Amino acid sequence: MLGSSPYDRIGSPLEAGLHQEGRRLTPQRRKVLELFENIGSGMHLSAEDVHHQLLEANTRVSLATIYRTLRLLVEMGFLHELELSEGGHRFELSSRDHPDHHHLVCVRCGRTEEFESENVVEAGRKAAERNGFELIESTLNVRAVCPSCQ
Ligand SMILES: [Zn+2]
Ligand SMILES: [Zn+2]
Repeated sequence: MLGSSPYDRIGSPLEAGLHQEGRRLTPQRRKVLELFENIGSGMHLSAEDVHHQLLEANTRVSLATIYRTLRLLVEMGFLHELELSEGGHRFELSSRDHPDHHHLVCVRCGRTEEFESENVVEAGRKAAERNGFELIESTLNVRAVCPSCQ
């Protein structure tokens, strides 16, 4: 991922968010972001997962608010959105410690495994170069059926 993460500019995402023009990290947004930070990178949560975990932590927020908050955190560059099959969406923390990686996604249960591939990154880079595009990221989502769903 090139230049889309606020981590490149300021150390902590929370600090970075506080300095974003016009868009403050409200306590609610901060809670959602903290949840992702606490579970660490490499986890892919749906809006329902986030809702459930916040309820367990005694934070009552409607699912609609969580959808809006997640979308906003993606726009602000804190989270990365992953579009799955059947209209499902998962979110993960954007982090420079966790650069370009790819996803193997079970179309039945949504289980998501990560993998790295220099070839994919390279193919994206070359295609962008050939067409004069400025590369932002090259990631691959592989749709599959996991062992327990087969
Ligand atoms: Zn991932
Ligand atoms: Zn599965």
